[in-house]
Amino acid sequence: MTDPSNQKYEEPPAPPKVMAIHAHPDDQEFTMGGTLAKWAAAGSEIITVCVTSGDAGSNKYTPDSMTREKLAPIREQEQRNACQVLGVKDVLFMGYPDGMLEPSIGLRRELTRLIRKHRPDAVLCSDPTVRFHGDNYMNHPDHRAAADAALDAVFPSAGTRFIFPELLEEGLKPHEVSSVFLFGSEKPNVFIDISSAIETKLAALREHKSQLGEWDPSKMLSGWAKEQGKAYGMEAAEAFKRMVLGRP
Ligand SMILES: [Zn+2]
Repeated sequence: MTDPSNQKYEEPPAPPKVMAIHAHPDDQEFTMGGTLAKWAAAGSEIITVCVTSGDAGSNKYTPDSMTREKLAPIREQEQRNACQVLGVKDVLFMGYPDGMLEPSIGLRRELTRLIRKHRPDAVLCSDPTVRFHGDNYMNHPDHRAAADAALDAVFPSAGTRFIFPELLEEGLKPHEVSSVFLFGSEKPNVFIDISSAIETKLAALREHKSQLGEWDPSKMLSGWAKEQGKAYGMEAAEAFKRMVLGRP
């Protein structure tokens, strides 16, 4: 990142059509819910993709009587509720098993299918190159796998006619995504001011009741947002590494 201290910063406009791709229900609300709420309010059409249904849950709030089969629909409904709060138009579940995700060719093909079908201008996901966050969280392997497959689907698969020719036979023509926004990057270059959307972000996150239990995430998330906004004096922000694709 270049030193922002004496630069004028111009926030990129809300893309018309957005696809946010995540490993688990709730990933979106923890990371980019403010940006999506802001963009939805500005008129963006947003589709959320959950590669798994979060059926491994978290041990802390998952009772012994729970099974993967019972947990998946609960978490899918929580994600639908959260998307409704954010103003996301649609949410798709790909049904891969939580906790065992691989950046396979099969997953890349399925994500390519979704990108060609829905034709987003921007794709949002996490940064798959980040192995560690700080000194107390090792990035979940599902997060890295989902983001790796998502970016490989964006480029080169979605835009190249003869990669996955079976998709062409289904009538899914190549589609070039204009930009990607990576959350959690160590080198962010875009800061979305979410001062007007942080309450919506928190309300959406609270929809993931089976995962939060009694915990109120407000303090932690407000702290993150403040930290991410401080480079440009924003009260609250979400930071991304943005790549604008294609020829200049
Ligand atoms: Zn996750």
